[in-house]
This record gives sequence, structure tokens and C-alpha cells, in this order.
Amino acid sequence: MIESLASVFRPGLLNGQVALVTGGGTGIGLGISELLAELGAHVVIASRKADNVERAVQGIVARGQSASAVTLDVRNADQVKQVVQDIAQRLGRIDVLVNNAAGNFYAPSATLSPNAWKSVVEIDLYGTFHCSQAVYPVMAGQGGGRIISTSMTLHYRGWPLMAHATAAKAGVDALTRTLAVEWAPERIRMNAIAPGPIPTEGVKKAFTPPAESGVPDLFAAAEEKMAEYARTGIPLGRWGTPRDIANMVAFLASPAGDWITGAIFVVDGGEWLSKGGRQGP
Ligand code: NAP
Repeated sequence: MIESLASVFRPGLLNGQVALVTGGGTGIGLGISELLAELGAHVVIASRKADNVERAVQGIVARGQSASAVTLDVRNADQVKQVVQDIAQRLGRIDVLVNNAAGNFYAPSATLSPNAWKSVVEIDLYGTFHCSQAVYPVMAGQGGGRIISTSMTLHYRGWPLMAHATAAKAGVDALTRTLAVEWAPERIRMNAIAPGPIPTEGVKKAFTPPAESGVPDLFAAAEEKMAEYARTGIPLGRWGTPRDIANMVAFLASPAGDWITGAIFVVDGGEWLSKGGRQGP
């Protein structure tokens, strides 16, 4: 889904660069892939389902921009390493890695199965580490690179039924700060973005709470109720869009971000600050 081809960034800003976007075929990741391609990068879109990545690549290529698809499960460290090596061999470099792949669903912690916990933590946290570690030698060898991970704001407060995802994203934040310092000598900049609510298909599915939980189902609400929540629950008065997050990625990927590392940027219309611990409208 492309919202607008208009960009505040100069055309050709990322010409000649290679960006790898995990989970780049849907939702926020697709918005990121589209903007990076629009700015001249060759974007490698990676996720598990061939349909998702191929559809996204077709859309980008149809607009005369450059992209290719790979299927990849970020939980599998060996597969990630191999895919990254193949990309580096085929395209000569990897300038930008966007760790955006994630899994999520509402589940009461008291009955969360070990497998469900493992699955979300492995995708969100292990996946971010596997991909970052795999691009390290490529970026270090070429004199630097930018790694940008998608975090969230739910772990800044308490968010019942999301123990797995909030724990994993807190880990992503810690990894962002640690690797920023550890890999600065290689000129690898490591930052993260914490999006507010963006009604992607993925998040609508993830945020369907069990009926008995009493947690409001924001995204299943009638259009009217959703619009009212955006007006009253988000200080800037609207839901976010994938382009809102993509703009921050493009900024961090560009030379404008040259002295920024270890930072976590909240892009949420002021939502988490205004809501404290409350859930829902
Ligand atoms: P989404 O469309 O469901 O995106 C998740 C992506 O991750 C999909 O493209 C999926 O593709 C991929 N993925 C899942 N498991 C994978 C695995 N094991 N290996 C490789 N790829 C995998 O959801 P979204 O809303 O755009 O979310 C994108 C990111 O933003 C996530 O990190 C999410 O936590 C974060 N976020 C979203 C919101 C929001 O309101 N939307 C708010 C805060 C943070 P396949 O199924 O093809 O693998």
C-alpha cells in the first residue's frame, strides 16, 4: 500500500545503496521498503511468505524502482547468515538493515504456552540480533552502515496480555543501546523507532483480545469509534501511517543522521505520554 509518492527527502538521496528490510512486504515494513526504494536504494525485502515479498517487489519495480525478494525466517540464525552473505555477494554491499519483522498476539500470561512465548521472543528479539550480527562483517568491511529496528511503546507502561512482545521489544531497546556503543568504532549506527498505533492488517489481527479479558478491542470498533479514539486518545488527533515511520527510517538512513546512534525515537502522535497506564479509549 503506498500512501503518497510525495517525499520531503531529495530524490536520489539513497542512490547506489542497498537496504535489507525484514518483514518488508506488509504494513509498516512495506511503507519503509517503498520509501527507501523511492529515494533510490535497491531494497531487498525479506520475510517467510514468498507471496508477501514478491507482491511488494512487483509494486516497487512497476514504479521503475529497484527491489528484490528473499524468503527468510529471522528465527533461524544460520539461514539469516546465508541470506545476508548471498545479498552481499550479489549486490556488493548492505548499507541499511531495517529489523522490522515481528510476531504478536494478545494472550494471558498465566496460560501462555512456552512455545507461544518462545515464538514471539525469537522473532522480535532473537531475529533482531541474528540479522544485526549477520550484517556486521559486511558493514564493518565496507566502512560502516545503519541498523534501524522497530520497537514499540507498550513496555514503557504495563500492557496486560503482551508479556512476550513487551519483553522482547524491551530487549530490542537494550540491544540498540549496547550495539550502538560496541559497533561505533566500525561506524555502524544502531537506532530504533517506537511507533504508536498504526492500523495495519497485522496489528488488527494481533490486537484482537480474548473476549473474556475485558480489554477493549480498538481495531474491531466501528469506523466511527476508531475515529473518535484517534481524536481523543492520540494528542495529534489521528492514527499513524506506515509513511510516518518510513520518514524516520529515511532520516536515520541518510547523512542527516550521521551523529545519531543508540537512540530510540518515539513516533506516535504523543499517544503513550498522554495515556499513562490506561489501555484503550
Ligand atoms: P505486520 O504487517 O504483521 O508485519 C510483520 C512482518 O513480519 C510481516 O511482513 C511478516 O511477514 C514478517 N515476519 C513475521 N515473522 C517473521 C519471521 N519469523 N521471519 C521473517 N519475517 C517475519 O505488522 P506491522 O503492524 O506492519 O508491524 C511492523 C513492525 O512494527 C513490528 O516490528 C511491530 O512490532 C512494530 N509495531 C507496530 C505497531 C502498529 O501499531 N502497527 C505499533 C508498534 C510497533 P511473513 O508473514 O511473510 O513472514
